[in-house]
Amino acid sequence: MGGAGGAPALTGLIASGVSLAPTVARAQALRIRDAKTTPSVCPYCSVGCATLVHTVEGKIVNIEGDPRSPHNEGCLCPKGAAIFQLHVNPNRPTQVLHRAPGAADWEVWDLERAMNRVAALVKKTRDETFVETLPNGKLVNMTPAIFSLGGATLEIEFNHLQQKLMRGLGIVAIENQARI
Ligand code: SF4
Repeated sequence: MGGAGGAPALTGLIASGVSLAPTVARAQALRIRDAKTTPSVCPYCSVGCATLVHTVEGKIVNIEGDPRSPHNEGCLCPKGAAIFQLHVNPNRPTQVLHRAPGAADWEVWDLERAMNRVAALVKKTRDETFVETLPNGKLVNMTPAIFSLGGATLEIEFNHLQQKLMRGLGIVAIENQARI
């Protein structure tokens, strides 16, 4: 009921010309007043916008652009502005979910079981499709049957090892937003 009545009241307030900026600024200041500030970098793309991470008792309470940064000057794009939800988001899956071919429902899998399954499928696919040489005799040692897709939210160390693993397996179809 409060929400239903609140929105029209707020809309009316804004329409009447009342500035909410000081209230918003004060709420923002209170939210991070006792927080520890740690400089960081947005993980999403190669622009690498600088951020400030605010924590209270070790928990992230806010992430925003760092105004000291020469290239983003405190701004973040909509994706970067949502980094907070990368860390604090009750909708994020926290378990491995597996849906068998043809099944309608997801099943919770133990991580070890899932990793073993992926490893077995990678080996099977690679064994069945590995190409050592092309018809013209050129040595290629590759499989065209596996594709690797990574995201920039994966950290540099992971992406580095991922590239080594993929190329070592002979996988050539590799895409990653981080473009290492
Ligand atoms: S804030 Fe946006 S532009 Fe900046 S690094 Fe993150 S995703 Fe890239």
